[in-house]
Amino acid sequence: MPTVLVTGSNRGIGLEFCRQYAEAGWKVLACCRRPEQASNLRGLATEWPSVSIHQLEVENFDQIDALAHALASEPIDVLINNAGVYGGSSQNILGTLDYDLWARVLKINTQAPVKMTEAFLPHVLRSQRKLVLAITSLMGSMGDNSSGGAILYRTSKAALNAAMKSIAIDLKPRGIGVLILHPGWVKTDMGGSNAPTSPAESVAGLRRVIEDFKPGDSGRFLDFRGRELPW
Ligand code: NDP
Repeated sequence: MPTVLVTGSNRGIGLEFCRQYAEAGWKVLACCRRPEQASNLRGLATEWPSVSIHQLEVENFDQIDALAHALASEPIDVLINNAGVYGGSSQNILGTLDYDLWARVLKINTQAPVKMTEAFLPHVLRSQRKLVLAITSLMGSMGDNSSGGAILYRTSKAALNAAMKSIAIDLKPRGIGVLILHPGWVKTDMGGSNAPTSPAESVAGLRRVIEDFKPGDSGRFLDFRGRELPW
């Protein structure tokens, strides 16, 4: 049974990843900040015994190390760095920037996925598929940026893309693949109700991209339909 670990799995895209991988027969290590409040995820774990819930606040690097230690015996086929924050809309343009908030957004969106990859490298190395995913955003693309704003979020995802591109190159000799994936504009708390794509459609597309992965794809920046995106 292949194993997937998902951060930010209590709602939105992360919850949908857990649902679809559980239905597909995978073992799911579902990480979230507050398991006691994660009623949808707990419902899923009741329905599917292959889903286990693990407390993890990704900005707490000691917690990441402790969880990696606690799960030491688990090979992880696909490590999904999904947890993320937008960082507010009013503190995101010149004149209103909140620099402490910016540092926190960078820690959650950029540093935490790198730290997760570092801490869980032994687990991924011991698996069959050996894949690390960064759920990024097209908003991290400079080539695509025609509307400005969102400085906190854009910089955090652009830096995530740069870090994951390097990690893809660095881990290639060890047989680990890295994909930098944009889920589309998705109807979640972050994406809002006007988003055109449902979490089910986005995650089904992302799972196809993951299934189609070939070693030559490592380090590519793709959307949920498998289309190449501009850096
Ligand atoms: P949501 O806001 O719906 O969910 C965010 C998830 O991240 C929640 O589970 C949240 O947990 C978790 N999270 C936030 N901060 C932390 C933290 N410090 N530690 C642990 N977990 C944390 O967002 P989406 O599902 O829409 O987004 C998922 C990913 O997709 C993000 O990386 C986002 O940037 C990316 N994305 C989303 C798009 C969209 O249109 N929705 C578009 C492009 C990219 P909690 O409930 O505890 O806050």
